[in-house]
Amino acid sequence: MEKMRFNYHTHTVRCGHASGTDEEYVQCAIKAGYRILGFSDHAPFKKYSNRKCFMDWDQLEEYIGSIEQLKEKYRDQIEIHVGLETEYYPYCHEEREELKKKVEYLLLGQHFSDPLCTQTDYFKQNSEEEILQYGKSVCEALDTGLFTYLCHPDVIMSRQPEFTGACVEIAHMIGKKCAETDTPLELNVRGIMKGKRRPIEGRKCYYPNRDFWQILAQYPIRVVCGIDAHAPEDLLDLESVRDAYKELDGLNLNYITEPFI
Ligand SMILES: [Zn+2]
Ligand SMILES: [Zn+2]
Repeated sequence: MEKMRFNYHTHTVRCGHASGTDEEYVQCAIKAGYRILGFSDHAPFKKYSNRKCFMDWDQLEEYIGSIEQLKEKYRDQIEIHVGLETEYYPYCHEEREELKKKVEYLLLGQHFSDPLCTQTDYFKQNSEEEILQYGKSVCEALDTGLFTYLCHPDVIMSRQPEFTGACVEIAHMIGKKCAETDTPLELNVRGIMKGKRRPIEGRKCYYPNRDFWQILAQYPIRVVCGIDAHAPEDLLDLESVRDAYKELDGLNLNYITEPFI
């Protein structure tokens, strides 16, 4: 499937729920045969601190500096990029623009409905209304043109026991919006890794969700595989990469096989 191994979705300890040193991620990526490694740790918000979910604003310079240093140190072995993964909230639009100028790329990962996660957590089981709200905020974010790709579009399916009417509706909304804005969507490998470690009701896969992708596949979209590494060893788990592709086997998706950042 892959001509060249690349991954743009990698976290660091700064987000508060990942492990290992920055350099260990680079070393594991080299060992696994990656030619390109993009760091995309959870981006900070100026007015909010949530040390279990994302770095603080004042850690930003150190983060970028550390990755730039590794970029230089390992330049003969691997190409390294520095980006950020972030949610999008309209009231934080300006600072997202500011972030985009500081790094090479932004990935959209809409995990929560607000920065401190006081309202809706999209990893949990959500109501029809909350599911629709997720779809709307993803589309609103993509309209800004700030994002290089959309991470785990089906994160909302993590703990959804059924594929409800709202799920159908937002899969169409997101597929249509990604086609319209030419934003690639991510086949996320972490949903497989998490499921292997902690199955939910016998389900070994949180996402990708085949029902969701069956709808997305009806749109002219491009798909990129992302590891979403939260530990250096995640980059060595190539079996989970194969398992992720297997989940969507036969859907005839248009996979991106060449680096594009
Ligand atoms: Zn994370
Ligand atoms: Zn994410």
